[in-house]
Amino acid sequence: MRALVTGGAGFIGSHLCELLIERGWTVQIIDDLSTGSKDNIRGLLPSKSFQYAFDSVLNEMVLDRLVSTCDVIFHLAAAVGVELIVKRPIHTIRTNVEGTDCVLKAARRYHKAVVITSTSEVYGKSTKIPFREEDDTVSGPTTKHRWAYACSKAIDEFAAFALAKETGQPVYIVRLFNTVGVRQSSRYGMVVPRFIKQALHDEPITVYGDGEQSRCFANVADVTRGLADLISSEAAAGQVINLGNNEEITINALAERIRQTFSSKSSIVHIPYDRAYEEGFEDMHRRVPSLEKAKRLLDYAPTIDLDQTIREIGDYLVKVDG
Ligand code: UDP
Repeated sequence: MRALVTGGAGFIGSHLCELLIERGWTVQIIDDLSTGSKDNIRGLLPSKSFQYAFDSVLNEMVLDRLVSTCDVIFHLAAAVGVELIVKRPIHTIRTNVEGTDCVLKAARRYHKAVVITSTSEVYGKSTKIPFREEDDTVSGPTTKHRWAYACSKAIDEFAAFALAKETGQPVYIVRLFNTVGVRQSSRYGMVVPRFIKQALHDEPITVYGDGEQSRCFANVADVTRGLADLISSEAAAGQVINLGNNEEITINALAERIRQTFSSKSSIVHIPYDRAYEEGFEDMHRRVPSLEKAKRLLDYAPTIDLDQTIREIGDYLVKVDG
């Protein structure tokens, strides 16, 4: 089997490539290296089963050629990271909406199976915990750019469902919840690698808002296993499925746990959202996935807890940053 992984030089994409190759697949990536990097795929370069194209999914000629020769498309190329999304609103909408449109058009032309990676951001400000795939989504006003990310991904989901409905071809939609692990950059927000870096350097740990907001962090190895298992599940075709971990932690508790894990001398400081992002920024208070559907359709359950993930990232950062 041959996979095309868009965004394959990104954090999640590069881990997915490694897993697919381990499972005997041939993997072609397309990545414009905007948030991805050559470092992420360095380990894959010697493999005969790995090929790369450094280009944008908006380049329809290149995309057409790559889609025509693959069996399955894993579409991961997207604008990511809340800080980047707030700073580059046009880029976010264009990359997410037009990028997915190009991928779906090519998938349609060659009748290829396609996995669309969406996000837990789609649930928006919903307070119905845990988030179930068929629940209502609750977005904020269009004057607050953060919601453009959620809405752009929701449009991607609608477009994917529309394709499945009109053509009958296999489309899989997954909503990823705060995926973390080695090689994730802290540059675009991403709280876990950022806190670990700060703790390792005994610098202040920067908690945004009052820190009582919570998240559930999933190890990238669990998430990529779920992604790779999708396409062998007939029941998963045409579905939207949450993938992540349901161990919930507040950002205050996360800061404390990271400080203790590395016996760090860091202080913990609170920074108002207005200063961290922009005036009037809205955050989600709690974000917890229901993993029932993933369990039922994919036999998915997370296997790696947050403590182990924090240690893994710490060991990695010590190795690369010294
Ligand atoms: N956050 C924080 N300090 C940081 C970066 C992020 O307190 O240096 C908070 C952020 O405001 C959010 C949570 O940590 O409430 C998770 O942020 P991240 O950007 O990792 O993912 P999000 O869940 O917002 O997509």
